[in-house]
Amino acid sequence: MSDHAPDTDPAAQGVRPPWHPGRDLTGRLLFLGTGTSVGVPLVGCGCDTCLRGGPRDVRTRTSILVGLPGGHLLVDTTPDLRSQLLREGIGKVDAVLYTHDHVDHVYGLDDVRPLCFHSGRPMRVLCEEPVEDRIRKAFDYAFSTVPPAGGGVPRLVFERIGTAAFEILGARVVPLRLAHGPFDVLGFRFGDVAYCTDTSGIPDATWPLLTGLNVLVLDCLRHTRHPTHLSLEEALAVADRVGAQRTLLTHLSHDLPHEATNARLPAGVELAYDGLELPLG
Ligand SMILES: [Zn+2]
Ligand SMILES: [Zn+2]
Ligand SMILES: [Zn+2]
Repeated sequence: MSDHAPDTDPAAQGVRPPWHPGRDLTGRLLFLGTGTSVGVPLVGCGCDTCLRGGPRDVRTRTSILVGLPGGHLLVDTTPDLRSQLLREGIGKVDAVLYTHDHVDHVYGLDDVRPLCFHSGRPMRVLCEEPVEDRIRKAFDYAFSTVPPAGGGVPRLVFERIGTAAFEILGARVVPLRLAHGPFDVLGFRFGDVAYCTDTSGIPDATWPLLTGLNVLVLDCLRHTRHPTHLSLEEALAVADRVGAQRTLLTHLSHDLPHEATNARLPAGVELAYDGLELPLG
């Protein structure tokens, strides 16, 4: 971790700004983003979804915020993190949990700096080793032993997780090993809600951890097959086998316009959208 106080951190100068922690999401799950790695609209795209889509066709990169008894747990830090927190009125995040090390899930990490100005503490970062390695490379300035000249740096404390269940912020979290093409990534189960983004298949050992769900949040990229994500047809097959009361599809591309796609989905399956909130219980 970086434990030197950067000189642009207002708290370090004794001029901590007034804190507006914003909305309290205790007991709720909020979709900060539901879009694939390039987001929707896609830059320069002339398709109907991108040019003429409705508000629910605006998809920032995929992430959720989970309101646990002891605070707000952010799952992944997308390149859209700052705008997601501002859009949703969130001023307090107590820990960050990572699914995997891809750019669309990690590269907004610098945006945790203001959260730490206010809390006065470094950010807890829970992840597997490849994610920590990626963060140490991509954000090497945060780990320099030389104090930064002028620019602030994110202050981070790593906590290693694996596939064993763990406690965080007063809740038990069950990691779910998922296949994401050739990559091993993690989903997470919070009570009877499971979050499984960025997957192309559920390994045999994970199926028993997906029983009795109220809500399954599941990767679904597009209609046609993809090497690292579920197609709509594949996602529906997984949803059917899991049998959750409600399945919400995420990590969506512009191939799946919100209204038209939702109208054709089977009962109990819906597209998630940015800003969607649901109870955790
Ligand atoms: Zn992704
Ligand atoms: Zn498009
Ligand atoms: Zn990924």
